[in-house]
This record gives sequence, C-alpha cells and structure tokens, in this order.
Amino acid sequence: MDKKKTRIDFFGGAESVTGSNFLVTDNKTDLKILIDCGLFQGPSALEDLNYESFPFEPAQIDFLLVTHAHLDHIGRIPKLVRDGFSGKIYSTPPTKEISEYSFFDSLNVQNKSGGGDKDKILFNEQDIKKALALWETVEYDQSFNLGEYQIVAKDAGHILGSTMWGISRNGRSLIFTGDLGNSPSNLLKDTEPLGPVNYVVMESVYGDRNHEGKKARRSLLEDVIEETMKKGGTLMIPAFSIERTQQILYEIEGMMENSRIPLVPVFLDSPFGIEVTRIYKKYAKYLNDDVRDSIESGNEIFRFPQLQMTLSTEQSKAIFNANPRKIIIAGSGMSTGGRILHHEKRYLSDPKSTLLLIGYQQVGTLGRLIQDGAKTIKIMGEEIPVNARIAVIHGYSSHKDSDHLLHFVDESADTLEKVYLAMGEPKSALFLAQRIRDYLGIDARVPKAGEKVEIDV
Ligand SMILES: [Zn+2]
Repeated sequence: MDKKKTRIDFFGGAESVTGSNFLVTDNKTDLKILIDCGLFQGPSALEDLNYESFPFEPAQIDFLLVTHAHLDHIGRIPKLVRDGFSGKIYSTPPTKEISEYSFFDSLNVQNKSGGGDKDKILFNEQDIKKALALWETVEYDQSFNLGEYQIVAKDAGHILGSTMWGISRNGRSLIFTGDLGNSPSNLLKDTEPLGPVNYVVMESVYGDRNHEGKKARRSLLEDVIEETMKKGGTLMIPAFSIERTQQILYEIEGMMENSRIPLVPVFLDSPFGIEVTRIYKKYAKYLNDDVRDSIESGNEIFRFPQLQMTLSTEQSKAIFNANPRKIIIAGSGMSTGGRILHHEKRYLSDPKSTLLLIGYQQVGTLGRLIQDGAKTIKIMGEEIPVNARIAVIHGYSSHKDSDHLLHFVDESADTLEKVYLAMGEPKSALFLAQRIRDYLGIDARVPKAGEKVEIDV
C-alpha cells in the first residue's frame, strides 16, 4: 500500500454497530488522534473484546475526539486512561456531562453483573476521574489545531451534543460522522451538512432500511395512549435514557398541553433518564428553534403538572399504588434490566395494559421475546403471562435511514472521493455502499475490522 499523508485504522465499529474506535495517524509527524473509544455491546463473545488490550499503545495516542455520549462510543475511555493514555480528550460540553454519568452507571452495572470478579471490571472510579480531568470541551464550529491538522466539531443531530469531527490540512479534509440523527427531530437541531469534504467515515446502522414517517409516529403514539387509558390500563414504555426518553416525554407533554390525550399521571421512573433530562434542560441552546421559542415564551420544557420524576426506590415503588390509568417511562430500553422490569412483572399479565416498544429490540433480549409474541416470560424468576397489548412504533429512531444517508452524501458529491461505511451490520453497510456507488457514482467501501487505509489529507 502506498503511503500517503494520513492513515486511518478501523479498530472498532467496522462491520459492526458497536465498539466505535478509529485511529488517525499523521504519517509526516506520527501524531495520533483516536476517534471514539466505545464499548462492544451484544453477545458475550463480542463483549469479551472489551477485556482485551487495545490494538495500539494507549500511551502513544496524543488526542481523543469523542463523537457522542452513547456507551458504544465512550464506554472504554476510562480503560484507555487506565492502560496509559494521558493526552487530551475533546467533546462538546453536554457530551462530557452525559459521559460522566454514563461511566459511573456503567461501573455500577459492571460491579453488579461481575459479582465482585475483578477481571470483569474494566475500570474503577479513579480511572473515570482521571479521564474527566483530561477532558476539554469545545463548541460547534469553533476550529482548533492538533499538530498540522485543523479540527472542527459539527452538529450530528443524533443526541444532545453529538458531533461529527472534521479533520483537515491544506484544503483537504476528512469527516467522521459518528451516529447521524433522524432529522428533523422534535428536540434537536438538524444534522449539519458535510460541506465540501474529500473523505467521510460514516455510520450505516439503517443503511438498508427506511423509517416510518414522523407524522405517523406521533398519531400512533396518541392512539396507543388513548386506547390504553380508555380501557383503564397502564401504559409502559421501556426507553433508552438518552434522547429517546426526552423525545417521548416532550411528545407527551405537547399532547397533554394541547388536550389531545387524557391528563393521567406520567412517571419518569429512571434515575439515569432523569439526570439526562436535566442535562437536556441545562443545554437548551443546543435544542432546535421550535423548542427554544417555546422556552422563551415561558414554557418550561419537561415540566407539566402530570409529570412525576421518581428518583428514589421508595418513589418508584409507590407508582404501584397510583390509579392504574397512568403512563410509565423507564429503562432499560430493551428490558434487559432497570426499573421497567418491576412494572412489566406487575402489568404484563393485565389485558387492559399496554407495553409500547419504541426502540430496536436486539435478539436475545427480553424486549425482543415480547415483541416476537412470547405468551409467557420470566422476570426475576417468576413466570408472567403476557396478556397486555404489545404495541410497536418504529419511527422514533435517532438514526438516519437509508434514503436520508444517501441524500446526506449526495449533498457533498462534488468533492467526495471516498466514503467509508462503518457502525453498521455488514448487510446494511454493504447495501448502502452499493447504493452510493450506483446512484451517486461515488466510491464507497466497507472496511474490515483492523483494516488500514491511506488518504490524502
Ligand atoms: Zn449513538
């Protein structure tokens, strides 16, 4: 392979949706910039990779650029520090703040699931604190230099603070998209265009599929709430704590304020979800114009008379005593743990109640079993008959679908020389690569895990 000015190593997130981890090396100066350092999540064979040493020397990495605060993009950062990294970390302020909470939450989960086994702990509290001390924040569109490269953060519109990182030198440029939002979002600003760029490393989670329309998803949600409340049942919504929880909460808030649904109690029963909702509120300037206009006209977001944020275990337990006509939003999004399990245990056997699935349910999870129509399920050792209605709404994804990814690339067709598709299952990434080549005439490839490429930047 001819050596060019810059090299990219695809260490994680190649042919896979998790473990995002890319290395940019300046072949002239040997400066090394890591993009993301995420956790591998999924089957245990994949998760075992988290315990292996990094395929590079952490002490030799100069900088780390973080795209956003999902664990599959940040989850191994404290381990990177533990293993010798002492350079600077950069992200937007909300990404740093959500990451901090995620690290402690992740450590908690590791402590619980590892049962005290030290080999099953990736990092400790000290490693988290060290990582945060190395971490600097930057705003969108304020460029800065790392070695000879000029670096800029652009809004990816995926979750609060999510970033695409632009790396350029002498008019030649490369962008890592991280995950790309399903714009327009009811909360976030739209994904910024790539602009004139030569190379892109782009996500492809939904490279082979399109989502339901946004109007359809809102009226489906409204219908599910109305029907469940008419029957006198409880509506349970398992939701991911970052973005999905806030999106659904904001939809419900709007529906209640416009008297489109019955004014029943709404419980946000997730300590992590409550914390992230607080961070969304704090960083309102990152939200879209509609939301900010609404705030300026005196409407406090994520605050309405029916909403109760139940932080403590006692408050959470007390939800059972409330009238059955209620809405409960709780983690985890795939019912793999968290407080949603207590509610499912209680209400899945009730034919008047509804479980609403608004996110992707991975094979092997309880959420997937329920989605696939299991008649009974086991929760905390107890057999529970599934008599509740199971409803599914797909449109709340926070990723761009196939058509929108294609359009996103097309806008920069004049300058793009190559698109590298990452963060997608092979089937999805390969399908999108074919579409980009066929429809746009731009070279698109799906790099293998561990592959290196040389580019002119
Ligand atoms: Zn993400």
